[in-house]
Amino acid sequence: MTGGAPVLVVGSGPVGLTLTCELVRRGTAVRTIERVAVRERESKGIWIMPRTLEIFDSFGIADHLIAKGQQLVANDIYTRNRRIASVGYGRIGPTRYPFALVIPQWEVEDALNEVLARWGGRVETTTALEGVEQGPDGVTATLRRDGGEVEHARVGWLVGCDGRTSPTRDMLGIGFEGERYETTLLLADAVLDGEVARDRSHTFQGTSGAFIAVPLPGGLTRAVVYGPPTEGRVEPTLDRIHELMHQHGPAELSLRDPRWLSAFRIQRRMADRLRLGRCLLAGDAAHVHSPFGGQGMNTGIQDATNLGWKLAAVAAGTAGEDLLDSYEVERHQVAERVLADTHRQTRAFLDVSGPRAVVRDLAVRTMSAAGVLDRRIGTSLAGYFDSYRTSPLAHRRDRGPTPQPGDHVPDVPLDGPGTTGTVHGLLAPDQLTLLLLADPARTGDDPALATLAKRVEQDGRVAVRTATNGPELAAALGAPHGAALLVRPDGYLVCRTRLRSAEHLLEHAALLAPSPTRLLAAAVPDPGLRDLERTDTR
Ligand SMILES: Cc1cc2nc3c(=O)[nH]c(=O)nc-3n(C[C@H](O)[C@H](O)[C@H](O)COP(=O)(O)OP(=O)(O)OC[C@H]3O[C@@H](n4cnc5c(N)ncnc54)[C@H](O)[C@@H]3O)c2cc1C
Repeated sequence: MTGGAPVLVVGSGPVGLTLTCELVRRGTAVRTIERVAVRERESKGIWIMPRTLEIFDSFGIADHLIAKGQQLVANDIYTRNRRIASVGYGRIGPTRYPFALVIPQWEVEDALNEVLARWGGRVETTTALEGVEQGPDGVTATLRRDGGEVEHARVGWLVGCDGRTSPTRDMLGIGFEGERYETTLLLADAVLDGEVARDRSHTFQGTSGAFIAVPLPGGLTRAVVYGPPTEGRVEPTLDRIHELMHQHGPAELSLRDPRWLSAFRIQRRMADRLRLGRCLLAGDAAHVHSPFGGQGMNTGIQDATNLGWKLAAVAAGTAGEDLLDSYEVERHQVAERVLADTHRQTRAFLDVSGPRAVVRDLAVRTMSAAGVLDRRIGTSLAGYFDSYRTSPLAHRRDRGPTPQPGDHVPDVPLDGPGTTGTVHGLLAPDQLTLLLLADPARTGDDPALATLAKRVEQDGRVAVRTATNGPELAAALGAPHGAALLVRPDGYLVCRTRLRSAEHLLEHAALLAPSPTRLLAAAVPDPGLRDLERTDTR
């Protein structure tokens, strides 16, 4: 038996790598194992959405990926080859990344591997998880190396990021219910000849399927065709893709010089639970769905970021294990939403013909004209729609303007005089941050804020940052001068209050400053929290 790292991450796909980076950057000792020697360099998941770009920015790789990728501002939707609607990524609210980035998955994995190496982490390749046994104090993981050598490693926590067929999930006996669609999806990364704008993707709706063209960097295009129901395995040939593409889209478009061809039956499944004792699941191990909307990899990466700071705090002993329950609550509902949305959208393309197609097109047109597609689908695809308002970490009675507790705090630029950076740049990576918003006219001589900042800072459990509150920041955060926001390391709001006086503030400093475990307790109504709950920040 070998003793060792508090955390074992199984799998080095984009999700395992993101989680490893999140742990390593917080100083958590982690072992990450990967069954294969080298992962295939396939383009697979090509969409990086704005919320994921924010996470990558915190790793220092967003600009590098943006320089290598293709930016898309919208997805245009066509019926009988006429454009009827558009879903824009540019009007999703305050974001520094008002576009979707398209880049092959292996480029993202390369960038994550480089960050990990820079931060002193590494992946143990050709090492497979073969068995899991857990008790109240830890997990014994049976690992087998390529040469046959077996190790029984004792760890505190184990996270299965081992993909759709997750051995971790199977070994834990966690169900993965769902269904397999009857259609096969065919993909080609190739040169597309014909008139197609390259700043957007194009979805051509047919009556028994769809053709989607997504511009890739380097002059290539990802062609995706959803065909009619199929039996058995379908070979992904360019001829077959052409045939379906012309059935659903314009005859004048054609593909040549394919770099990658693939075919797979899509599935819609979700793990019954994301945590069983000291073992957790993230990414494809926890949920798989139709690739419509490019959500798979993004959802998994956001799982990893949600889990990273919590697991680091629990492993370091600064938070109780119950903090991990919030991971399950928050990410299970996101996965449910993603599965439902992608299913609805996939069905709308696969099943609809005759009068139902006319109704569908009318609905899509009307929603597009009213901006509903941008607000609902654009925001959802971008990764900003999901909120953790029902989480035990969100102060439930604080119902002011958005963002409300549980919502994502927009990563807007700090707009006060002499300030630089963005709101997320102020957040401490391993602590809750108390963000105090000061009036520019009163900055420097506001003893209430200064006293509070000092007091909470001395307490040491919560980082304190003061931002000069200009009009744009106030609007984005729904908070005027004197407001205090308690924000999680992953950028979600815990609670917000108006600071009426230093005394009032100091009274609540202890309540505003607990460790995450105390926050769980604080989510239960408590007379001492009444003023916080009566948030009136307008
Ligand atoms: C053809 C195709 C197209 C796709 N298109 C899109 C898209 O457009 N947009 C999108 O967002 N997503 C897309 N996806 C999905 C995306 O690729 C996945 O969501 C993503 O790879 C999931 O990452 P992951 O890290 O959870 O799992 P994976 O990438 O599957 O990685 C799991 C890793 O775990 C390792 N492993 C497994 N078992 C063990 C074990 N016992 N011990 C040690 N290691 C183990 C595996 O070797 C693997 O490296 C596509 C997928 C495919 C196949």
